[in-house]
Amino acid sequence: MSAVWHPFTQHATEPAPPRIVKAEGAYLTTDDGRQLIDAISSWWVTTHGHRQPQIMQAIRETSDQLDQIIFAGLTHDPADRLADALVEMAPEGLTRVFYSDSGSTAVEVGLKMALGYWRHTGGTRQRIAVMEHSYHGDTIGTMSVGERGVFNAAYEPLMFRVDRIPFPQGDGRATLDAFEALAAGGEIAALIVEPLVLGAGGMMMYPAAVLRGLADICHRHDVLLVADEVMTGWGRTGQMWACDHAGVSPDILCTSKGLTGGAIPLAATLASDRVFQAHYSTDRSKTFFHSSSYTANPIACAAALANVALWRSEPMQDRLDRLGKMQQERLDRLSANPRFENPRRQGTIAAIDLKVRDGGYLAEAGPKMRAHFLDRGVLLRPLGNTVYVLPPYCVTADDLDQVWGAIADWQG
Ligand SMILES: *Cc1c(COP(=O)(O)O)cnc(C)c1O
Repeated sequence: MSAVWHPFTQHATEPAPPRIVKAEGAYLTTDDGRQLIDAISSWWVTTHGHRQPQIMQAIRETSDQLDQIIFAGLTHDPADRLADALVEMAPEGLTRVFYSDSGSTAVEVGLKMALGYWRHTGGTRQRIAVMEHSYHGDTIGTMSVGERGVFNAAYEPLMFRVDRIPFPQGDGRATLDAFEALAAGGEIAALIVEPLVLGAGGMMMYPAAVLRGLADICHRHDVLLVADEVMTGWGRTGQMWACDHAGVSPDILCTSKGLTGGAIPLAATLASDRVFQAHYSTDRSKTFFHSSSYTANPIACAAALANVALWRSEPMQDRLDRLGKMQQERLDRLSANPRFENPRRQGTIAAIDLKVRDGGYLAEAGPKMRAHFLDRGVLLRPLGNTVYVLPPYCVTADDLDQVWGAIADWQG
């Protein structure tokens, strides 16, 4: 027995996890020689595939020259070059890049920037609006702006209050109306959303037009828009950013998971010029007082630069379109199965719900389903009754057949 305390793991009931000794492309190899298709991109981080050669090469080369360097008062090429590249690739109007080391910290930074903006420009707005069912991380601040439930009930006393708008149904009219009314009150500092796909909430999807509508309301009522692209960025939704589908330029954009292609931790919070300018002053109290020890790690920045180079040199859009099509075909086939409902897809992400007989059944089914998939050589982690396939972009048609076949064969 190891001393490890695993994340989201009930050690009292779950079996010892498979031990992974090698990762390559879409596959993980266990110590007993089994091959698993990583159909969830190792919790949504792996984009091109595991150990993508150019990214690993960049890590090796950079580690011959640099390791962690304090990033207050010093700088280095990988960070400077990556910031310029991110500004170039991001939706228009995002001109500054602040580094941290995880999706949660990228969101915390974004929330602090938004509150700082209002404080330093003499405003009084302090309230944060959020969308129902959202997930933005597991730190106290990011839990506060996320959905409340069994996962965070114990920490409720530490969480701050937020204003919630409903998850969009149909054309999203009710959501837009609710947000319009809220924003018109003049007290909302920022709206934070997961654009187009609510990941941990159950791969819930809403139309780009609703995102566009929310952005328009933000604009009309001077509410800062924070786009949490931690999961949706780097092609997951079929374009580079989910915001691109809607032609939306947020004031603040958070990115992490796919930033290094999934090889090594890094995060960035991009800010518009007006957010940066609010902190730009001879008055030291307006400094953005935030850092983490490993901010802008040079090796991680170099990995991200190699990832950027791939996005510029490889036919990424074709690859995403092809994967989306392959996913849709298999999703369509499963949709005919009466045990499933609500098939949905956004870009490379496909999800479908198991029809639920009763709630108790689900708590039982989760671990059993995971075991069933492992038996079939597939790594999947359903979210409640939602089964989703979110694969690395190198996954083949045969791999996907194996994954979707294992889903169709689940007899719970
Ligand atoms: C995963 C995720 C986060 C948190 O990222 P971590 O790196 O796990 O801290 C934040 N927002 C969204 C939308 C995510 O999917």
